[in-house]
Amino acid sequence: MSNVGMSNEENQVMCPIATIYAGTNISNHIACNVIASYGPPDPTESNDDFWKDKANRWSIPLGEARSRLCMNCNNYDNSEYTMRCISKGNGAKVKVSDIPFVPRWVDTDAPKAVCTRFNLVTTSIRSCEDWIGHGYSYGEKAY
Ligand code: SF4
Repeated sequence: MSNVGMSNEENQVMCPIATIYAGTNISNHIACNVIASYGPPDPTESNDDFWKDKANRWSIPLGEARSRLCMNCNNYDNSEYTMRCISKGNGAKVKVSDIPFVPRWVDTDAPKAVCTRFNLVTTSIRSCEDWIGHGYSYGEKAY
């Protein structure tokens, strides 16, 4: 979009709510974890149990499951406009290490974007059970 130089007022109206409000971003992280096993806590580790569970749920090989990341999910919004919202919004400043997960999650330097399904600011190298391929919609055989 062209109006990425928006004012703070415009930002409040037009940006994804999770980029604006920290509480929303935090609560939606927790909801996504509960509803769709969002994770893993430290995506830089091998996380064998996490990915084996995803492979079983999706009925696909483990290697293919490991390739299904937020960064290539159809719900991953890293448009120029949304990235502007992330750079400006207080909600996007939430560190996953500050969310009351047990054990604590690990912050990474991986790129972030907005998950439009759960409305949270996600890390590109995490995933969840609701991952869906580009060009597909829920109800189709694409996940
Ligand atoms: S729906 Fe997609 S973008 Fe959202 S958390 Fe799940 S895998 Fe990530």
